[in-house]
Amino acid sequence: MTKLIPLSLELAQLEKNYLFSLVSAKKAQYKNENTLDLGVGDVSKPLNKVVAQAIIDATTEMSEKVFGYGPECGYPFLKQAIIQSSPAYSQFSEDEIFVNDGIISDMARFPLQFAPDITLAIQDPCFPPYFENLKFLGRFKTNTVLIPCLEENNFIPNLPEERVDLIYLCSPHNPTGSALTREQLSKWVNYAKSNGSIILFDSAYQAFVTDDDVPSSIYEIEGAELVAIEFCSFSKSAGFTGLRCGYFVCPKGIEIDANGKRHKFLPYVEHSKSISTNGVAYPIQKGAEAALTKKAQDEIRQDIESYMRSAKQLKLGLQAAGFTVFGGINCPYIWFKVPTEQTSVQFFETLLKEYDIVSVPGSGFGQFGEGYVRLSGFIDEQKAKLALQRLRAVCK
Ligand code: PLP
Repeated sequence: MTKLIPLSLELAQLEKNYLFSLVSAKKAQYKNENTLDLGVGDVSKPLNKVVAQAIIDATTEMSEKVFGYGPECGYPFLKQAIIQSSPAYSQFSEDEIFVNDGIISDMARFPLQFAPDITLAIQDPCFPPYFENLKFLGRFKTNTVLIPCLEENNFIPNLPEERVDLIYLCSPHNPTGSALTREQLSKWVNYAKSNGSIILFDSAYQAFVTDDDVPSSIYEIEGAELVAIEFCSFSKSAGFTGLRCGYFVCPKGIEIDANGKRHKFLPYVEHSKSISTNGVAYPIQKGAEAALTKKAQDEIRQDIESYMRSAKQLKLGLQAAGFTVFGGINCPYIWFKVPTEQTSVQFFETLLKEYDIVSVPGSGFGQFGEGYVRLSGFIDEQKAKLALQRLRAVCK
C-alpha cells in the first residue's frame, strides 16, 4: 500500500479543473485560422530589442569568462536598477529586494513559510494560482476568508470583518480590472497595522496604471513598509512572460511572532530563499536591467499604450453594443457580464465555437466570478476591432 498521500486528497479533481488548462484544452479543440485569442493574458509583441541585445551580450560574456552560480536573491546590478526604477522603492536597500523567476513561484506558496493554522484572506474572484496552490498544499481551509469583489462595489474589495494573518491583495486586479485608489489602499494598510497582518501585494499590472489617484506600488502608502510585501514582474510590464524574471520587496520593518517574541521577517525570508533557489540566469537578469533603462522604457511604454488602446477600444465598443463592461482603464483586462442566460463556462464555449473568440470564463477565478467573462487587451488594435465586430453580433 502506498504511503505517498498527497496533501490535498482532491488532487486529481483540482488538476482537471484548473482554469487555464481548461481554456487551453478547449482552445486546442476548436481553434481554426479565424480564432482570435483574447484568453490567457499573454503578451503579443516581440521582445524589446534593447533587452534582447543585453541578453545576447551577457550570454557572450559568459562564454568568455566563468560565472558559475549567481547570488540566490539576485545580482546587485539588477537590485539597484529596481530600487532606482520607482520613487516608491528609493527607501529600500539591496537586501530588501529578492529577484525571482516571476510572481507565481514565490507568491502562490508564500504561506508555506508560516504555521499551518494561520488565517488567510483572498479576493474572490482572483488570479487562480493563489487558491489552486493553497488547495494543493492543504492550506485552503474552512477559515480562509473570501473577500468578494462584486459589481455593486465596482469590484473593490471590502476589509474582512474578522482578523486575518495573511492577505492576498491584487491591484490593478486580475480579472476584474478594478484598481484600488490611494484612499482605499490606505484602509488595507491601516487594517494590517492594527491587526498585525501581512499583505502580499500583487503588483503585476503596475505598469498599466494611468489614474493619478491609483498607486502603482503599495509603498506609496505611508506605513506599508511595515506590513506589505510587494510582488512585481517583468512579465507584463516588459514582455518577459517567456523569459521569466520578477522580484519581491520584503521591507526590513516587517515583523512576525515566534516563540512569544517579535522578530524581523527579512532574515527569515533571506534564509528561506537561499536554501530553495540558485537564482535567476545572469543573461535574464541583464535583460531585466536593460528593460529598466530609459531607452527600453520609452519603447516598452509604447507597447503598453498600444495594449491599453486595444483594451479601451474593446471596452467602449462593448458598452456601445449594450454589454455591461468593467476594467480596461488601469489594467489591460475587460470584464463583462454574460449577456445571455448561460453560465460563464457555457458562454465561453459559445464565444469559442460560434464566434471564434477565446475568452476566460469568470467562474474559473472564483465563485463570485460566475456570470462574467474576461477578455485580454494584450492584442493589437486590428484584432480588437475584429473581435468587436463578432461580439456585437452576440447581442443581436
Ligand atoms: N499575478 C497576476 C495577478 C497575474 O495576472 C499574473 C499573470 O497573468 C501573474 C501574477 C503571473 O506573473 P509571472 O509571470 O511573473 O509569474
